[in-house]
Amino acid sequence: MRKICYILAILLGLTCQSLNAQSYEPGVSKELAAQRVQNISDVHYDLTFDIPDNLQVLVSGNAIISFNLARKSEVVLDFQGNFTGTCIVNGKQRILTMENEHIIIPAELVAPGANTIDISFVSLDKALNRNPEYMYSLFVPDQARSCFPCFDQPDMRATFNTTLNVPQGWKTMVSDGRYPIPTYLYSFVAGKFEEQTARREGYPIRALYREQDPQKVAQLSKVFDEIGGSLHWMEGYTGIKCPFEEYGLVILPGYQFGGMEHPGAIQLSDRRIFLGSNPSKDEELSRMELVAHETAHLWFGDMVSLKWFEDVWTKEVFANFMASKITRREFSETDHDLNFLKTYQARALAIDRTEGTHPIAKELKNLNYASMLYDDIIYDKAPVMMRILEDIMGASQLQEGLHNYLQKYFFKNASWDDLIVELDRQCPSAGVRQFSEVWVKQKGMPLIHTTYDNGKLVVSQTDPYGRGIFWRQKFEVRLIYDLNESRTVTIDMQQPTVSVDIGRRPNFIIPNYTGRGYGRFTLDDDYTKLLPLRLIVTRGDLQRYALLLTLYDNYLMGRIPANYFSELYRDMMKEQNPLIMQTVIDHMFKIAFDCTPSERHTLEQCIMDLLKENKSADSRQIILRKMAANATAPEVLNQLYKVWSAQSDPLFDEHDYMEMAYRLAIMRPQQWKDITAKQLGKLRSDNLQEEFNYVSRACNPDQNAQQSLFNEIIEKENRLHEPWALHTLRLLSADTREPQNNGYIPQSLDALTYIQQTSDIFFANNWLNSLLGSHKSQEALSHVESFISRHPDYQPNLLNKIRVAAWPLKNFREKQKQ
Ligand SMILES: [Zn+2]
Repeated sequence: MRKICYILAILLGLTCQSLNAQSYEPGVSKELAAQRVQNISDVHYDLTFDIPDNLQVLVSGNAIISFNLARKSEVVLDFQGNFTGTCIVNGKQRILTMENEHIIIPAELVAPGANTIDISFVSLDKALNRNPEYMYSLFVPDQARSCFPCFDQPDMRATFNTTLNVPQGWKTMVSDGRYPIPTYLYSFVAGKFEEQTARREGYPIRALYREQDPQKVAQLSKVFDEIGGSLHWMEGYTGIKCPFEEYGLVILPGYQFGGMEHPGAIQLSDRRIFLGSNPSKDEELSRMELVAHETAHLWFGDMVSLKWFEDVWTKEVFANFMASKITRREFSETDHDLNFLKTYQARALAIDRTEGTHPIAKELKNLNYASMLYDDIIYDKAPVMMRILEDIMGASQLQEGLHNYLQKYFFKNASWDDLIVELDRQCPSAGVRQFSEVWVKQKGMPLIHTTYDNGKLVVSQTDPYGRGIFWRQKFEVRLIYDLNESRTVTIDMQQPTVSVDIGRRPNFIIPNYTGRGYGRFTLDDDYTKLLPLRLIVTRGDLQRYALLLTLYDNYLMGRIPANYFSELYRDMMKEQNPLIMQTVIDHMFKIAFDCTPSERHTLEQCIMDLLKENKSADSRQIILRKMAANATAPEVLNQLYKVWSAQSDPLFDEHDYMEMAYRLAIMRPQQWKDITAKQLGKLRSDNLQEEFNYVSRACNPDQNAQQSLFNEIIEKENRLHEPWALHTLRLLSADTREPQNNGYIPQSLDALTYIQQTSDIFFANNWLNSLLGSHKSQEALSHVESFISRHPDYQPNLLNKIRVAAWPLKNFREKQKQ
């Protein structure tokens, strides 16, 4: 078809390129990707970038792209920036045009075998994160093409050679391009950075950072140890040496993700790496998991990469699943299992119970939409699924299967189905294929009901979407007869209903006793009424935590009233395990949020009073941090004001005091100027002052000022540091500013497609959560529902994100009606 157009074009005196280019849509379609990977191989990029420190001047560069062509046909490069039209193809100067984000090299200019294209270009700033003193490129999932001409699809791996021309005194770091890697893993960083080097497990480590605080910088040696520990563990588990020779990391202020796994140039968020002087156990665990996650990616993601971004979850699931195993070494078994529930299971439930949920595996037609695939289903439900799969296969069988998979696809690309083939071969009896059909390819989770019936314990699953499927899994049920007599029954759900003879009726049944099962475990009505409070304070830590999740879910389902919790949590305040304490407090605040203002004041006051009962540093830190973002009661605000004014409590760092200042300024509008001015004076570093100046504008009580700030952060050029923009939106959307701030909801939703297209992968999600997380009015919900009904053909993945973010609001309104 295109050949005919070409002949016609010559006859008509038109250029061939403009007609040809029309047949390629913007972005990288699945069809284009499939054609290219068939025909093009052995790609190498020789890249030069000129990086000015003047932000008004664009980055420019040159690319010499060499590749092997199987047969003579036109070659399509992806590029969004600018070039003059002149380039050199196989040694000859040619004029090419660009359309729909592609440069098309006609077939007659190339030949089967080796080809070279030499192009000078100007990059878009889009993915370059340029700041006055430093910049870093971040191309995942499909932004390399905004910077240089390339084949921007993950299964066209390439080697890279990079020359960076940078201002004097700037340091640089570039992805390790000696090995073939996908374009989304290629990155370069340049700027005024401090530098440290180290050696762990025989690998040289090089770190770049901008942090000045010596107490924070000193934490680097611990981070290096965590890197060494992670490398060691991964080599042991996979039986494969670290596939890259050097470990480079750069720690960035205001970074938009937790981290990104560019081999040799891993990027990490400074807030996740440099902790305050008294980090909570949660923060330490989370740093270890982040380091382990990015390190695990060197095998899962970097060495073996996905074929197409719809499988992006497969690299994330292994990074998280391995991170969780690596972190196990650092913490006790109980804390580890508990942390798994807390980190993965609770978050997976939070999205899976909404109507915006979706299968782990989703289809992706064009890389344009790849960023919409990222959410808690892929990061948190996928590891839960892996753990259940490991339960069914057996740990050593899974490990062996993964080893075979990594060896088979060494520096190649593989899909989830390729992995399933390996695992099925490894352990045919496990039913891995059927497992994957339900757990990976279907959305949602079962309702699981546990009851006593005539001498039997009956456990039954229901599919909430009526498809008649069931989720194979194993878990424990605890039967309690009295304080001295209880026992555990293991349930292996190989069919939708399982019954076990248990004899006489227990006084109480705790479903999912150790948290190994996944679904919504409904408590039997008879038992709910009887639930003795002391049960929860006497269980083991893991069991107590699992029961907390079940109770909270039953609260959300309307099966347990709010007042039940105030008593329960009063008991829980004696809690000594900080991981459990954190969740108890989180739940308490969520329930307080659902209450009337006066009930909420009382609850907040109770929580503060409990500080006198539980004097642990953990409880003080957790409670005051929550208050700093949420307090409404005047007496509580007074107490918070005292802590903030003194700024002397070592449990809190500068970000904590900034958060307190925001809340106090919003709650005391007549003092907002004094409070923000005082806080600004306390901040020592330029980075923090810049952040505070940006975010604290949201504290201005003037409604017009708030509206114009909102209008400002909608625009791409004003959200260079995405976390700051999100924080600003969260403050503008504060609970106490409802209903006046309801208008941001329709405005944000109308702009959502633009926001998604002009931001990094997690931003649209986080934007919606910041926007909707603090609303509870019917008017707010109506804005969302009216938007959804007015847009029947909206991008389904983006629509799901709206539904997920609006679910707590919707669930609250529905419970109000009951
Ligand atoms: Zn990851």
